[in-house]
Amino acid sequence: MLPLIKTSIPDRKILMPRLEEVLYSGYVAQGEAVELFERKFEGYIGGGHTLSLNSGTAALHIALILAGVKEGDEVISTALTAEPTNVAIKMVGAKIRWADVDYKTGNISVTTIEKVINAKTKAIIVVDYAGIPVDVKGIKALSEKYKIPVIEDAAHALGAKYKGKKAGNHFPFTVYSFQAIKHLTTIDGGALQILDSELYEKGKVIRWFGLDKKLTRMDNNISFQGYKYHMNNVNATIGLVQLENIESVVQSYIDNGKYFDEKLKDVNGVELIEYYQDSEPSYWLYTMKVENREGFIKMMADNGIMASELHKRNDLHSFLNDYPSELPNLDLFYSKMVHIPCGWWVTNEDREKMIDLIKKGW
Ligand SMILES: *Cc1c(COP(=O)(O)O)cnc(C)c1O
Repeated sequence: MLPLIKTSIPDRKILMPRLEEVLYSGYVAQGEAVELFERKFEGYIGGGHTLSLNSGTAALHIALILAGVKEGDEVISTALTAEPTNVAIKMVGAKIRWADVDYKTGNISVTTIEKVINAKTKAIIVVDYAGIPVDVKGIKALSEKYKIPVIEDAAHALGAKYKGKKAGNHFPFTVYSFQAIKHLTTIDGGALQILDSELYEKGKVIRWFGLDKKLTRMDNNISFQGYKYHMNNVNATIGLVQLENIESVVQSYIDNGKYFDEKLKDVNGVELIEYYQDSEPSYWLYTMKVENREGFIKMMADNGIMASELHKRNDLHSFLNDYPSELPNLDLFYSKMVHIPCGWWVTNEDREKMIDLIKKGW
């Protein structure tokens, strides 16, 4: 079965010597490799400061803390995402207020965010779902109008761009995940890209128990809640090896995504996702809307290809559904949404086969 998602591990001959070196170096904790990974990742993103962490969820949690979200506050979010996006909001004791999606893209809709903003709203989380950039322009304007910080969850969207700049350059906080199945994996890991340098320094203290590594243990005074969220040299070494090849890995997702965009135009029973102006997706999954989704998934499975909706609507989790809301666009979008494989493991033959199958119907 051609899988929908797949872990990308560098070639044994390249990775193993580097791993062996770090494992027996006597320093596997957070050290030089972590520092180097952060600086290289900043270079890849092209702006902001990289706070490396042990998960994307940790990145969301720290972003919410740095945005000033506290117990009893509200955060506006989308229900069309992986659970960590919304579980993190509960970690700071805040409540989740749903905004609907834009039916054309599946991403959070600016007009519905505006409708639910209230005095308790302290942050907005936007998700580049499946690697498709959010409406950066519209969301930025709203954030400025109401003075509410935006956290971009780009866990699906490494390398996606808006106006030629990668995700990580547009909002005060951008979250990446380096978990097993993302564009870049460090086995587990994540990063928070922070534009403001003072908040970056504060983030470093939060990620390590509230201790400032620049001071001696004796000179330290913990004055707020910190966590154990840092990355270690072993994961960072894997990350460094991955970064050497990341442009071509991301490009393979993009090439396949563009191929599907072109070939699936005007195919019966398929509605393509639209992209916001000046945005370039990084197609972590290839998402589309189809009639008779169950039939589509079965037809693809019968032919050896995994297709799926992958995520459960987060408002169907009782713990996350603080304010049950009508989300008519999401209802419609979700009833038709399906993902097909789009990553580096999809060969030219695979993608031609998928097009032929879809054109034949289901
Ligand atoms: C993977 C993912 C995360 C973070 O996941 P971790 O496993 O904690 O690294 C956050 N948001 C979305 C949308 C994700 O898919």
